[in-house]
Amino acid sequence: MDRQQEFVLRTIEERDVRFVRLWFTDVVGALKSVALAPAEVEGVFSEGLGFDGSSIEGFSRVFESDMLLRPDPSTFQILPWRSEDEPTSRMFCDILTPDQEISAADPRAVLRRQLDRAADMGFTCYTHPEIEFYLLDSERAEGGVPVPVDQAGYFDHVTGSVSQDFRRHVVSMLESVGISVEFSHHEAGPGQNEIDLRYADALTTADNIMTFRTVIKEVAVMQGKYATFMPKPFTEHPGSGMHTHFGLFEGDANAFYAPNAEYNLSKIARQFIAGVLAHAAEFTAVTNQFVNSYKRLWGGGEAPSHISWGHNNRSALMRVPLYKPTKGGSARVEFRGVDSAANPYLAYAMVIGAGLKGIQEEYELPEAITEDVWSLTTAERKAMGIKPLPGTLHDAIRQMEESELVAEVLGEQVFENLLRNKQAEWDDYRVNVSPFEIQRYLGQI
Ligand code: GLN
Ligand code: MG
Ligand code: MG
Ligand code: MG
Repeated sequence: MDRQQEFVLRTIEERDVRFVRLWFTDVVGALKSVALAPAEVEGVFSEGLGFDGSSIEGFSRVFESDMLLRPDPSTFQILPWRSEDEPTSRMFCDILTPDQEISAADPRAVLRRQLDRAADMGFTCYTHPEIEFYLLDSERAEGGVPVPVDQAGYFDHVTGSVSQDFRRHVVSMLESVGISVEFSHHEAGPGQNEIDLRYADALTTADNIMTFRTVIKEVAVMQGKYATFMPKPFTEHPGSGMHTHFGLFEGDANAFYAPNAEYNLSKIARQFIAGVLAHAAEFTAVTNQFVNSYKRLWGGGEAPSHISWGHNNRSALMRVPLYKPTKGGSARVEFRGVDSAANPYLAYAMVIGAGLKGIQEEYELPEAITEDVWSLTTAERKAMGIKPLPGTLHDAIRQMEESELVAEVLGEQVFENLLRNKQAEWDDYRVNVSPFEIQRYLGQI
């Protein structure tokens, strides 16, 4: 037993922890959880916990369904939203095959593989997500339209508001599980909020996002509300994105920073951006994985719909934020494509994988776009070489199917499972007669 495992066992004893939850994530990013009695933890550290992989989306085929969970002791935390007299804790898990090999189907392993690849090239990858979501009065929509908790807008301060109270509560709960929040504010839509997590390495960030979603949902329920990460719950209001800032470091040095270059971007940063842009359309089915994701991308509200990069330009898919003069120089790139319902492990693996490919193969970065891409005509965009992101999940699946990069980054098993899952979703959607159609056609035709 190693020291971290011993620490976990000691803490369980000292804090009289009653339940130890083992957490992992399926292929579409749904959190899975199994509760262990404290007495079982030691055995599970050495032997793993068996579960039926064939019952989890994207895990294993029925004939090889016995899988194992191996808890990662460095992720042990007491959960603050369970009652004080019955302390509950959690650990994230790696998924193993019955012969104790890392399972290729585990989204955490997919991300770790890209981070190992970055490490082989001399880089560590840091990420900072800005997570948007809607706070609603209840899960049940009135007449199919959800009811937001307020009518406030971007950065609004509303005295005594539900959102403000909610954010304060969430931030202190996140801090108590070791997740630092950098900013939080009301977003543009009614009931829409944004919370930005502090920089952390990409795997920790992805784990933090899974915890974050759980905390948001729990606190909402505690306050008699409902929170949703659905990419576009309202036709007429902005969707919820999960813009993420990426930075590569070589030791302590920021590999994206070059003091005298345009926007202080190093050659490595330019190649990274070029890689992401070149492959963005192929991996959109991963970063924007639901039918509804495309309503956000194409529904305005500052969501990116075309493939470009820029500086002070919010229509860009990749944005280089204002340079903040700091010691040693800072530079980072913001990828605005991912939405709040993405599987963070797979989405980050794709962005990083595409960026690393850009570096490895020395991709050339096209010119930055200074115009507002949304207001250009199709012909103007074409002349400037600006291509669209996929228009629908169907379009995104077709582009993903053809992509060698996505197959390589996800690995064959996740690639196939995700395609199968997404195709089934599209097949359900395309035969569904929606309220829009009834309203538009029934009385007229
Ligand atoms: N909600 C927008 C999106 O979906 C972003 C708005 C903003 O943060 N400027 O990407
Ligand atoms: Mg923001
Ligand atoms: Mg925002
Ligand atoms: Mg942003």
